[in-house]
Amino acid sequence: MPPPPALTVSGVEVQRSRQLIRDSRVLIAHARESIRQARWAIAQQTSLQIVCAWCHQTMRWQRAAGGTRVQISHSICFACFAHVFWELDPRHTAPPLPTQAAAGDQPSHG
Ligand SMILES: [Zn+2]
Repeated sequence: MPPPPALTVSGVEVQRSRQLIRDSRVLIAHARESIRQARWAIAQQTSLQIVCAWCHQTMRWQRAAGGTRVQISHSICFACFAHVFWELDPRHTAPPLPTQAAAGDQPSHG
């Protein structure tokens, strides 16, 4: 069995390797700039807290562009909307509003 051929590197291969290294460095620089811009864009985004204006329950969070970190916007949740919807019809008695207070938080009388 003949020995494996000796590994030789030609001048063309050295030039090609150097070019690949230069190209890689350019691509890495572009990637770093893209990451920097993405981080900046993420930092510019804020969270918008959607709160029910009736019961003050947080309904959801969504991303929003703006100056401050957390912004609050108001809406109406389904339970409160059902109550308000009943109030609009004078023929019906509105069901009680949902309360957030737990039974253990009620003050005791006696
Ligand atoms: Zn509500």
